[in-house]
Amino acid sequence: MTDTLRIRSYVQDQWVDGEGEGSRLYNPSTGEVVATASTTGVDMGAALEHARRVGGASLRALTFAERGAILKGLSKVVREHRDELLELARTNGGNTAGDGSFDIDGASGTLFFYSNIGRGLGDAKILADGDALPLGKETSLCGRHVWVPRRGAAVLINAFNFPAWGFAEKMACALMAGMPIVVKPATLTATVAHRLAELFVDSGLLPAGSWTFLAGPAGDLLDHLEAQDVLAFTGSAATGRKMRSHPRVLEKGVRVSVEADSLNAAVLGPDVDVASDTWNLFVKEVTREMTQKAGQKCTATRRIFVPAGQLAEARDALAQRLAKTTVGEPGAEGVRMGPLASAAQLEDVRSGVGDLATCGQIVFGAVERVERGDGGDADAGCFLGPVLLQCDHPREAPTVHNREVFGPVATLMPYDGTADDAAELVALGEGSLVSSVYSDDKDFVRDLILGIAPYNGRVYLGSADIASEAWGPGAVLPGLVHGGPGRAGGGEELGGLRGVHHYMQRTALEGSAELIGAVLP
Ligand code: NAP
Repeated sequence: MTDTLRIRSYVQDQWVDGEGEGSRLYNPSTGEVVATASTTGVDMGAALEHARRVGGASLRALTFAERGAILKGLSKVVREHRDELLELARTNGGNTAGDGSFDIDGASGTLFFYSNIGRGLGDAKILADGDALPLGKETSLCGRHVWVPRRGAAVLINAFNFPAWGFAEKMACALMAGMPIVVKPATLTATVAHRLAELFVDSGLLPAGSWTFLAGPAGDLLDHLEAQDVLAFTGSAATGRKMRSHPRVLEKGVRVSVEADSLNAAVLGPDVDVASDTWNLFVKEVTREMTQKAGQKCTATRRIFVPAGQLAEARDALAQRLAKTTVGEPGAEGVRMGPLASAAQLEDVRSGVGDLATCGQIVFGAVERVERGDGGDADAGCFLGPVLLQCDHPREAPTVHNREVFGPVATLMPYDGTADDAAELVALGEGSLVSSVYSDDKDFVRDLILGIAPYNGRVYLGSADIASEAWGPGAVLPGLVHGGPGRAGGGEELGGLRGVHHYMQRTALEGSAELIGAVLP
């Protein structure tokens, strides 16, 4: 254990270590311990108070453009250390270079995107929301809405699957708004976030108190939240419920945003011919969504709806493409899919496939064994190949719509070829981050959007005319909102300036146009 990395927290503008060995972080390809982390004994109340008092003041003294300049600098720091971060994503997250870059380039890209927003907002420190509303008959009495930074700390708690992008997308919005941040990545894969914390601190770009980093469990952090704080959480629905119902959160009315489970759907339109461009896009993107990051993506496609008459062809095409997924150590030549993030994840996915199989049958892959394409030991590490199931009666199979199996697993199901039927089936997921529609039929797409948009934060339209440069549903773009209703948590992040507003207070000003003009030139 002597060479094992020790990751530490950054609290009250200094590095601190917790007591005892704490949690162990593993390499999921080998089972080897790569780091340890402890937050035991860290004074969470003092950490939050320092962030609010020192960090809040230093950030609010800056204009949006100045905050944007900080984000630009941090984006560059991430880019400059990309290779080193990819290596940590491999050893601690089981990420292939492609999977890791999705996370790390996503982080630098999002920070850069928001730096441009800051530049565009210029020297302001307050944002206007809409135009002035004239209220007087004889005077300049009017009303105007403004956004101002909240006076608390933004507590950013993230899931294991995106150790870089996960906090960067929240961080970009919070810092832009003028709120200090307390970053708490999932302990399991925290070495990437920890290295970023070191790099950010060393860069000298972050004002005093604006950056707090917790390496390890949250301890009693939430017990110290105050009314002006924001709690932004990404993770499982079960932990999300704990956040929302935490006594301190309820007592103080803390603003909470939750991004949780999601059983994202893909719908193939009835107009799509086998081997057409749209069909090929559907097959390519569904299989990519199943296997990228070994399916450990909140946006991964879990439910695939295909017109009943095309079920067999879709199944064969998906299976044929999934068969090309070489599983193995993520750094090995030719490997396209690494392991799951931990032994617990592997166990959970295996048991989840068992649950799904009660509603249908496995039509590709297996959970009992894995074919490793890198020559490694099939019993070592947390490896699992992709698994495709088929469920012929989706309305009689609630498990398919409510059990998120967080791995390379999806279920293929028939629908009757109408937009109404597809919409009803998508809605059984009770709220998703993103669903995709593959069709070139404008009437079908319009009807389906009306049916499924209320159940999705984003609807991705895959069609022949954009096939050559489509991003796919899995890519979360900073200019578009991310989040979904119901089971997906009900939160909303990003979406350009919309994401910044979550860390600000909207206040209506009512008074003379001259006075309001002095506040908001
Ligand atoms: P998780 O077990 O719920 O943990 C998420 C985070 O919550 C971790 O940082 C964890 O810290 C922390 N946490 C757990 N209990 C806590 C408590 N009592 N107080 C404060 N913090 C606490 O989720 P996960 O296994 O890391 O992530 C997988 C899940 O995330 C999946 O369900 C996936 O769908 C979801 N996800 C959603 C999105 C989205 O945008 N909607 C994105 C990514 C992932 P420790 O690690 O220290 O326990």
